[in-house]
Amino acid sequence: MHEWALAKSIVDTVLEVAKERSVKSVEEVIIVVGEISQIDLDILRLALKELSKGTIAERASFILREEEAVFKCNSCDKTWSFREVKNKLVSELGEDNPIHFVPDLVYALVRCPYCGSPDFELLRGRGVWIESIRGVK
Ligand SMILES: [Zn+2]
Repeated sequence: MHEWALAKSIVDTVLEVAKERSVKSVEEVIIVVGEISQIDLDILRLALKELSKGTIAERASFILREEEAVFKCNSCDKTWSFREVKNKLVSELGEDNPIHFVPDLVYALVRCPYCGSPDFELLRGRGVWIESIRGVK
């Protein structure tokens, strides 16, 4: 479960930024989580709450925003979303297809829906980052 390690680094960063800005109490932290970053949002939310206890971020609301994954084909230059190809794969492979559980498999299974090429890159939707931190001075 890397959600806890991730939560730890988020809380550490929030506290560091808050200190730099002389914030006394952190109120809101917006975190963007890529759709295929393999993060369990419920666990991450719980870990953030637990790890911020006893800090100036204790009362902060941690808002998690999911970012849609977008791919770009290196052969035909078209872009498409993970959702589009996922729906197609689900209808081909059935409901309990492995993509849902192991997003890394997209690279093995996904093809460009326009030209069928397996040569594509992920434009966005993978990382996790802090978008904003709001607090009271
Ligand atoms: Zn293509």
